[in-house]
Amino acid sequence: MRALPATVLAVCGLIASACGGTGTGGAAAGQAAPATEAGQAAATAPTKEAAAKEAPAKDAPPKAKPLEGKVVVIDPGHNGGNYRAPKAINRKVNVLTQMKACDTTGTSTNDGYSEAAFTWDVSKRLTKILENRGAAVKLTRTSNNGVGPCITERAAIGNKAKADAAISVHADGSAPGNRGFHVIMPKKINGPVDKVVGASGKLGVAVRDAFRKGTGLPYSTYIGRKALDYRSDLGGLNLSTVPKIFVECGNMRNATEAAKFRDPKFRQKIAVALANGLQHYLQS
Ligand SMILES: [Zn+2]
Repeated sequence: MRALPATVLAVCGLIASACGGTGTGGAAAGQAAPATEAGQAAATAPTKEAAAKEAPAKDAPPKAKPLEGKVVVIDPGHNGGNYRAPKAINRKVNVLTQMKACDTTGTSTNDGYSEAAFTWDVSKRLTKILENRGAAVKLTRTSNNGVGPCITERAAIGNKAKADAAISVHADGSAPGNRGFHVIMPKKINGPVDKVVGASGKLGVAVRDAFRKGTGLPYSTYIGRKALDYRSDLGGLNLSTVPKIFVECGNMRNATEAAKFRDPKFRQKIAVALANGLQHYLQS
């Protein structure tokens, strides 16, 4: 979640609407596919005898899915277009404990795989898994070529959705020798987040345990205790009124972890682990 050097960025002047970016196209495209699949199934199924024989089974009441009725907001950290809009993303916003940049570019592997692309891919995978388990999922951005939204808006999306759990997906950019993942949870700040600090702590431990088990990545060697860290400087946490955590999936500047993050199979492993942690919390 660390930003590129300040020299890359400039001071802001753009209006807030620039933070909306080019987001909506992705959502429309994403929604189109399932509709098409459903349409094909409806058109072909009645003509096949086999399908007709199976029909009663399909009409049987569906098994209740484990996350039916739960709302999860996933916040894929940063955005692929942020580097193009330094003025918009450097605009200072109030995160209650301080003024902070609206968003940052995020980090990348040494060979140029960006954190924004990584968090977007993992978040899409996580969305699919949670939806298959019955949850209603909302993302804070709908593509990886837009700008923002600001951290204040990312928190507001979770609040507005009245999410049962919210998770902000990131990867760190630390010294090359540093290893491992960590989870960041909110602290009491004498603000609206205080009432969900306890629940966020439980969510954090559930995701920490599932992430360790599912990915095999070590606890962070350089932040927190047993991969648990508590902060009061993150807008995405300070401004949340629903249980929320950040996960830093590992260190993109470490060669071992960078290679794993580039592998789609490993990203799927991360997404399944995150889903398992969220589910454990949501069913507890
Ligand atoms: Zn980040």
